Parts: sequence; structure tokens; C-alpha cells
Amino acid sequence: MHIGVPKEIKAKEFRVGLTPSSVRELVHHGHKVTVEASAGLGIGFTDELYRAAGAEIAPDAGSVFERAEMIVKVKEPQASEIAMLREGQLLFTYLHLAPDLPQTEGLVKSGCIAVAYETVTDRLGRLPLLAPMSEVAGRMSIQVGAHCLEKEQGGSGMLLGGVPGVAAAKVVVLGGGVSGTNATRMAMGLEAHVTVIDKNLHRLYELDLQFGAMLNTIFSTVDAIEQHVLTADLVIGAVLVPGAEAPKLVTREMVRAMKPGSVLVDIAIDQGGCFETSRATTHDDPTYVVDEVVHYCVANMPGAVARTSTQALNNATLPFTLALADKGYRKALADDPHLMAGLNVARGQVTYKAVADVHGLAY
Ligand code: NAD
Repeated sequence: MHIGVPKEIKAKEFRVGLTPSSVRELVHHGHKVTVEASAGLGIGFTDELYRAAGAEIAPDAGSVFERAEMIVKVKEPQASEIAMLREGQLLFTYLHLAPDLPQTEGLVKSGCIAVAYETVTDRLGRLPLLAPMSEVAGRMSIQVGAHCLEKEQGGSGMLLGGVPGVAAAKVVVLGGGVSGTNATRMAMGLEAHVTVIDKNLHRLYELDLQFGAMLNTIFSTVDAIEQHVLTADLVIGAVLVPGAEAPKLVTREMVRAMKPGSVLVDIAIDQGGCFETSRATTHDDPTYVVDEVVHYCVANMPGAVARTSTQALNNATLPFTLALADKGYRKALADDPHLMAGLNVARGQVTYKAVADVHGLAY
């Protein structure tokens, strides 16, 4: 199959659909790969590296879309990209169609076959192509939180791990799923005092087994959240209720009662956030202060570490990219119900019920 990788065109997006290693893997399987010039340059994947991996370099996106049978990207296609998609062409990328009617209509009109990373499932019903970005955001939340605790950033001036003779900071992680577990691991590594609060008792049991007595695991109730958040130095919001807005677990009153200079990092901001005082921010201007509490609410945290994020994403997507390329989309989807769950649009038809329902389109 001929696979195409255009350069991402959304502002400040440095990730790229395929790493040179993934290209080499595809070429090794007998496929042809065309990469747009400088597609990976921002994260050190030069055209030379892609050439060495066996790719052909195309001067512009137009030539990539024209030649390729399958387009592999990171972000949802923008209007100019949708205009280049053609009937029967395969598109494999994040789409997030539910809140995006123009994109949905554009993909339907193009006649392409669009498989969305975010709805591919695994045998436990999880979303394996979203998990890498949650891992990145979870780990990053502690390093940005530690930075925000510095005086210069409006923080209380506390070092996360303390020093001998001085108490370490108290970190509270709301939600012990993928991002919460990764935040916990980083905070414990920096020797903070860490509490994880989750409503899933089985999850708390697993975390207790994984991290042992150094981790405080607490069942989620209004009482428990209030008690732990009010004394925390750093709170990480990492909850998710699938398909719903994030629950507002920390109220405005709680924020008002927190210690001056404490820090909230709301990873769940892409689902509306789990602090009542959260509003989405960007990497350009990531923080703001409410009632002397520093808020960090960047909706696209993995974008800041685009190199790691690209590699992590490719580790998760490559087996599916290979299946689509090796077998062709019909057989790959028929053989794997989890990949089939990723099919959102096919040849002029929305094929994902939740997307069809939300837009009132035929399914
Ligand atoms: P996950 O499903 O792995 O974990 C969520 C956890 O929250 C679960 O363990 C669940 O039991 C728990 N939970 C739900 N309601 C709760 C409550 N009331 N009290 C306590 N715990 C509760 O989810 P995840 O992959 O870790 O993702 C978390 C959020 O981070 C999602 O909204 C995701 O979209 C978002 N995310 C944001 C970024 C970013 O850049 N900001 C990046 C990646 C993911």
C-alpha cells in the first residue's frame, strides 16, 4: 500500500503521524511511504532520517494526498486537508467528530474511509490509542505542578520533595486511571507525600498493590475530597467519566479555602475540567490565579513534549497501521472488532452511532 504522511498544519502542532522507525517498519512490510518535506523537523525527525528509513519526500501536502492510498496523521484534518481527500482514500488519525459538525460533513462528502484513533478499543473496552497521551499528560502534570509551586510562578515557594529536615509537599491526585497513575508515579519519584482519590475501589486496590504503603489511597466522597484538597500543596485533576463532562469535584468554596500559593493542574480540562474554577489555557499562557491558587489548565499538554508524544503514539498506532496496510482496510476491519470500533465515516456515511446521533445524521 502507498502511505502518506503530511506535515501537521494546526498552530503549534509539532507531532507527526509516523516516526522514521515506523516508516522503516512499513517499508520492511513491502509498503511505500511518502512524507511531506520537513513534516518531522520540529522534533528532530529530519527528511534525511525519513529517507534513510526508506521514505520518499514530497514537496507539499498536495503531492502526499494525491499519491497515497492511506493518510496517517495526528490531528483531525483541517478544511484544506479535507478538500484533498478522495473517494475510497483511507484516513487514520485523531478525529474527535462528536463536537465537530463541519469536519463530519466534510469527511462524509469526501467519500473517504476515516478510522479515528480515539474510538479504537481493546479487549477490556479501554481506548488504547488515547492512553499514550494520558500517560504523557499524567507524567507532565507533576513537572508543571512543581514548576508552578515556585514563587516566580505565583506558587507558595515549596519544593515538591522537601529536603532532609523539611516536610515534602502534599500532592493529591483526583482519579487513579491512566493519567492519575502516571502522575502518582512521578510525584512519588520526587518524594512528595501522595494521596490518590478514586471512586473505583478496585482501582484503589490495584494502586495499593502497585505502590505499597508509601501511597495513600482514599475512596472518593465529598468529605474525603474536601479534607485532602484543603491541606494539599498540589492537586492534579485526572478524573474521567466516559462520554460525559468531568464532574466538578472541587468547588469554588474549596478553592477559596485552600492554602495561598497552592497549585491546581486540571488534566481533565478537555472534558470541561474537574475544578469549578477551571478554564482552558494554552502553552503560551498556561496559568492564571484564582483566590491565590495557581491554575494550570492546558487542554493539549502532550503538544509541549511533541517528540515523546509522537513516539508514544506511534508505539500504540503502528500495529493498527500495519494491519490496515498489510490487509487492506476491509479485511483489517473485518478481522479486528477493536479496529472496526475506530471506523467513524466510510464512503459517504457516518458509521459511528454516537457521532451520527449527536449530529442528527443517518447511521
Ligand atoms: P481514565 O479513565 O484512565 O481514569 C479516570 C479515573 O477517574 C478512573 O479511575 C475513574 O474511576 C476516576 N473517577 C471518575 N469519577 C471520579 C470521581 N467522582 N472521583 C474520583 N475518581 C473518579 O482516564 P485518563 O485516561 O486518565 O484521562 C483523564 C482525563 O484526562 C480525560 O478527561 C482525558 O481526556 C484527559 N486528558 C487530557 C490531556 C490534556 O492534555 N489536558 C491529555 C490526555 C488526557
